[in-house]
Amino acid sequence: MAIKPEDFFKNVISHCKEYGYIFQSSEIYDGLSAVYDYGQNGAELKKNIREYWWKAMVQLNDNIVGIDASIFMHPTTWKASGHVDAFNDPLIDNKDSKKRYRADVLIEEHVAKIEDKIEKEVDKAKKRFEGFDEAMFRSTNARVLEYQIKINDINNRFKTALNAGDLAEVKQLIVDLEIVCPVSGTKNWTDVRQFNLMFSTSTGAVTDESNIIYLRPETAQDIFVNYLNVQKTGRMKLPFGIAQTGKAFRNEIVARQFIFRMREFEQMEMQFFVKPGTEMQYYEEWKTKRLNWHLSLGLGKEHYKFHDHLKLAHYANAACDIEFQFPFGFKELEGIHSRTDYDLKQHEQFSGKKLQYFDVEKNESYVPYVVETSVGLDRLFLSILSSALKEETLEGGDTRTVLSLPPALAPIKVAVFPLVKKDGLPELAEKIINTLKFDFNVTYDEKDTVGKRYRRQDAIGTPYCVTVDHQSLEDNTVTIRNRDTMLQERMNITAIYTFLEERVSIKSLLKSL
Ligand code: ATP
Repeated sequence: MAIKPEDFFKNVISHCKEYGYIFQSSEIYDGLSAVYDYGQNGAELKKNIREYWWKAMVQLNDNIVGIDASIFMHPTTWKASGHVDAFNDPLIDNKDSKKRYRADVLIEEHVAKIEDKIEKEVDKAKKRFEGFDEAMFRSTNARVLEYQIKINDINNRFKTALNAGDLAEVKQLIVDLEIVCPVSGTKNWTDVRQFNLMFSTSTGAVTDESNIIYLRPETAQDIFVNYLNVQKTGRMKLPFGIAQTGKAFRNEIVARQFIFRMREFEQMEMQFFVKPGTEMQYYEEWKTKRLNWHLSLGLGKEHYKFHDHLKLAHYANAACDIEFQFPFGFKELEGIHSRTDYDLKQHEQFSGKKLQYFDVEKNESYVPYVVETSVGLDRLFLSILSSALKEETLEGGDTRTVLSLPPALAPIKVAVFPLVKKDGLPELAEKIINTLKFDFNVTYDEKDTVGKRYRRQDAIGTPYCVTVDHQSLEDNTVTIRNRDTMLQERMNITAIYTFLEERVSIKSLLKSL
C-alpha cells in the first residue's frame, strides 16, 4: 500500500534523527522552534553538497571567484538594499486558533489544491482513454479550463493587490476564497499586516538605536558591497561572478516543514555581473546551467519545474524559482533573479562611493547589471535526503530501509568489514582502511552478521561495503557490495581505490556536468 505523503515526511524526519543527520536544536530544553542542528552524518552530507556547489561554480568557471564575508554588516547596508523598509511578509491571524499565517502562503496553498484537482482530472482521463493526448485534453476539457480560469483569476487579483500594497484586498481575497484556518477550521481572520523578517541585535556596550545591527537575511549584500574590491584586486572583466556560501537569518513566522523553512539557514549564492542590456541572455543561461546542476544529482527530472514569479521584487526585472517536489508538494528550492543595477546603485547612493566598471572597449564607466542564483543549502539537503529514503521489499518478503544518496555526496563512502573477528581478517581490513582514509570517509564495523552490517550502512546511505574474508588472505581479493543493486563483485584490494574514485568522488560528479 502506498504511504501517505505526510507519513512519509514524518519518516524522513525520524530517519534524520535516528541516523545522526539532523537533530532539533537544544533538544534537551525541548528544542528551539525552526532551528536545527546537523549531526555527524548530516554535517558530512551538507559539507559535500556545499563542496559540489562551490567547485561547480568557482573551480569550473574561470570567471567566477568566491568570497567569505561576515554575517554582520554596516546597518546602512540594509537601508540601501531595501530590507529595513520592505523585507516584509504579509501576515494574518486567525482569531479563534490565535495562529499566525502568511497571507501569500494561504492563497498559494488554495491554488495548489485547485491544481491538484486538475491533475486528478488528467489522471482519470489517462486511465480512461487509450492514446491519450494530454496537451489536447488540458486545452479542451471544460472542467480543467474552468479550474484554470479560477487559478488565473486568483493569481491576477493577488498580484495586483500586492503590487499596489493593498493589504485590505489581500484579506478580501482570503475571505472570498473562503479559506479556513487549518487549526480552528474557521474564517475568523484579522486584517493583513506587514512584518519585517530581519533579526536585530546591538554592538558595543551601550544599547540604543544607533547601535542596532542586523543578522544578514541574505548573503547577496556582502557580495555587492565587495564588488569593487574583488573586481579591482582580481582584475575581473565583465561578465564575471562572485560566489559565497554562508548563514542567513530570517524571523520566519510560518516556520514549519522541518529544515525547509528555518530561522537560521545557509545560502549558496552567486552574483553574476554583466554589461547592461545583456542580462536577459545570462538570466536564461543561468536558468539552464542551474537546472542541469540539479539534474546531475540524479534525483529525477520529473521532480523539478520552473515557476515564474507573479510579483517581481523591487529590484528585479525577471525572476523565477526552480521548484522541487518535496514530500509536501512542489516548493521553491532555488531562486534565479535578474536584479538589474538596483543593488549597486543603491549602495553607491547610500555610501557615496562609485561602484562602477570601466569598459575599455567603450571607454566609459557604468554600473553593471546582475543576475543572481540563490539556493538554500538546507533545502537542497532536504530534497536529496527525502528523494533518497526508500523502504524496499526484497525477494522472500524481507524489507530494508535504504538511503540512495548520490554516492559522491554520501557521508561515508565505504564500510570495511572483516567477515569474522579473528584469523587476521581485522588486521587486513585495517590495512585497507589505511590506503583509503586520506581520500575517502571510511568506516569499520565488525559487530553482528555481515547482513546486519549491510543493513546499517544501507540506512546511513553508504554506497559500498568491502568484506574481507579468508580468501582475501590467500589471493588479496575482497568482495565489494553495491548499496543500490545489492550485488557483490570480487576485486583485488589494489583496485578498490580507483573503483571508488570513479564512483564516489566529488570529481566524478563534476565530470558529469
Ligand atoms: P520563500 O518564498 O520560500 O520564503 P524566498 O523567495 O524568500 O523563499 P530567497 O530570498 O529567494 O527565498 O532566498 C533564496 C533561497 O534561500 C531560497 O530559494 C531557499 O532555498 C533559501 N531560503 C530562503 N529562506 C529560507 C528559510 N527560512 N529556510 C531555509 N532556506 C531558505
